[in-house]
Amino acid sequence: MNGVDGKTAVVTGAGSGIGRATARRLAEEGADVVVADVIEERGRETVESIAADGGNATFVEVDVSDTEAVERMVDVAVETYGGLDLAVNNAGILTGFAEVTDITEEQWDTLMDVNLKGAWACMRAELDVMEEEGSGVIVNVASEAGLVGMGGLASYSASKHGLVGLTKTVALEYAGRGVRVNAIAPGPTDTNIAENMRGGVDPSTLPFDTSTMSEVPMGRSADPEEMAGVVAFLCSADASFITGVTIPVDGGQAAD
Ligand code: NAD
Repeated sequence: MNGVDGKTAVVTGAGSGIGRATARRLAEEGADVVVADVIEERGRETVESIAADGGNATFVEVDVSDTEAVERMVDVAVETYGGLDLAVNNAGILTGFAEVTDITEEQWDTLMDVNLKGAWACMRAELDVMEEEGSGVIVNVASEAGLVGMGGLASYSASKHGLVGLTKTVALEYAGRGVRVNAIAPGPTDTNIAENMRGGVDPSTLPFDTSTMSEVPMGRSADPEEMAGVVAFLCSADASFITGVTIPVDGGQAAD
């Protein structure tokens, strides 16, 4: 791929799933990768797997909803590798299925803090460096739930719709300053997100349709590597005229 080699990348939520696959892919393509995650053990596993394959990576523990920790994350990239070229804001959580009226204020705030405020905090810190350098690429990991409504996932869907809007707006703000900002909207992907889900009810008990695998026209879920490939493309110079878009990577769901 054209243009990732020798770049410095930060990937949040890189201890698992889409983030880990993306960190591994960018390192394979020759980028130095800052693996950021709230769970140290998982992040270090990602770093070890990259090193075992001959790539360069370093771990930083960060909770993306903590703005000071996010600033430190970006400092680590600059101090370790001399700058910041690529940022993949991927960390996200899914709270369990619930009717909108059953979501507690605490659940709402926790999810928004990670999925939406976290991405904003990351972009704010990343853009400071990228603007100074006069170049950079940001890829936010949204969701199919950021493009369409999904019964039982009101706060998640709202956070991802917000992230799509944030992506478009920041792309416009930086289009003349050398920084491209895009997002991907994954469909169902085989990761640990369901295991990490907190609370919620069995979706079949809800009095409305909830999203199911049967709604994926291609009839299967994705491997995290299928997301990583699209992120790597958006990071590369092959995507040099693409900014402000959210690419559905969803086996046809968005076309349905
Ligand atoms: P995952 O649970 O396998 O990985 C998420 C990683 O993020 C974990 O390592 C976790 O420790 C980390 N993380 C969680 N909260 C964090 C925080 N506050 N600060 C830093 N790191 C944190 O899940 P995944 O499926 O790989 O999810 C990655 C992204 O993809 C999320 O934004 C998710 O919403 C999005 N997504 C996933 C799917 C899917 O089907 N798996 C579909 C659409 C969108």
